[in-house]
Amino acid sequence: MANKNFLEHETTCSFCDRKATQVAQLVTGAHASICDQCIQSANEILKNSRYSQFQTGEFNLPKPNEIKEFLDQFVIGQDRAKVALSVAVYNHYKRISMEGFEDDDIEIEKSNILLIGPTGVGKTLLAQTLARLLQVPFSISDATTLTEAGYVGEDVENILVRLYQSSNYDVLATERGIIYVDEIDKIARKSGSPSITRDVSGEGVQQALLKILEGTVSAIPPKGGRKHPEAPMIQINTKNILFVCGGAFDGLPDIVRRRIGEKTMGFSAKIKSVNNIPDGELMEFVEPEDLLHFGLIPELIGRLPALVGLQELSESDMLSILVEPKNSLIKQYKKLFEMEGVELKFTENSLREVVRMARKRKTGARGLRGILERVMVDVMFQVPSMNNVTECLITEEVIQGKADPILKQGKSRQSA
Ligand code: ADP
Repeated sequence: MANKNFLEHETTCSFCDRKATQVAQLVTGAHASICDQCIQSANEILKNSRYSQFQTGEFNLPKPNEIKEFLDQFVIGQDRAKVALSVAVYNHYKRISMEGFEDDDIEIEKSNILLIGPTGVGKTLLAQTLARLLQVPFSISDATTLTEAGYVGEDVENILVRLYQSSNYDVLATERGIIYVDEIDKIARKSGSPSITRDVSGEGVQQALLKILEGTVSAIPPKGGRKHPEAPMIQINTKNILFVCGGAFDGLPDIVRRRIGEKTMGFSAKIKSVNNIPDGELMEFVEPEDLLHFGLIPELIGRLPALVGLQELSESDMLSILVEPKNSLIKQYKKLFEMEGVELKFTENSLREVVRMARKRKTGARGLRGILERVMVDVMFQVPSMNNVTECLITEEVIQGKADPILKQGKSRQSA
């Protein structure tokens, strides 16, 4: 009896504070107790978590058209790439969510993605935006820094270490993540054709990369590195990690042109028309054999079945990039000024001038930020301490460095 009193008065659920007598069951450990209802709620939370949803097939995977709609909010243009990516990503996560539920012997193979297109046209942004939509860990690695194990440089396993870090050291999450491998074209064999005299530079790295792309269990150091030699390594299974590789593949359009040209030999009109197709459009016709000629090893090409060509950005694409995406550069600057109580305006011509200057740099949309930053830094230095400015207008001449922004003065303002 004394014991029951003790339970009634002292033991409560550490989560909801209900007494032992108010619940059907109380599980008591050394330092805490939990009631049956809280166990049930905790179970629900676990069940609803993204990773167990992946495992049980309950994860509400967005449909390809919904994936594309999401991408549209952040990435301008590149429609064909978005469609191809949406399908590839949908199939990838569908395959994971169905794992263990298949009732036949058809095993769907992982379909990693290869994005081919010039610098600064949205390859990284696409992969990053997909990871954001799916709420999976994401990391970026540069293929040029990789070396075969044993050489000076980064081991290929470091790619996995980076993803593990971005998952906040969660092995299960890491094993469902997305890795973007940039500049994959730079590890191609130098002498394109696969012959016995082949140039092996790059091939070792391709082989090492191939292993983790196709699915293997890799050992990586635990959080904080291996300070103690006895610290166990972490095992990461790469089977369900989606690899998105990207590269500019300079010279590939000519390889494609030559192949198409050869096939249409004799039809001089066609050959002429192939020569007239701009590089960007030719990327849609890339075949695995072109990549082989470029210097990728066949096994690696085989592991990158989703080939996606990205277009060079047009002037109007670049203008849209400045103003349209949810977090566009112009929206960000406007927000910064708004916080100072100042309305920031750009003339149409000033934006066109930013685009013109960026296009000269030949770094795609990457140049936009640098050009704007150079112009905006002075005015962002001054405005916060000028408390009677209400409006700041940026003109074409300001972008060209020939004039100062036009500041409108009003009553003394208060920053938000
Ligand atoms: P890359 O093709 O070299 O991987 P990124 O995706 O890194 O290029 O693009 C660099 C930056 O340029 C991005 O952070 C983004 O701000 C902008 N950008 C590039 N392409 C687009 C696009 N199609 N839509 C919107 N922003 C873009």
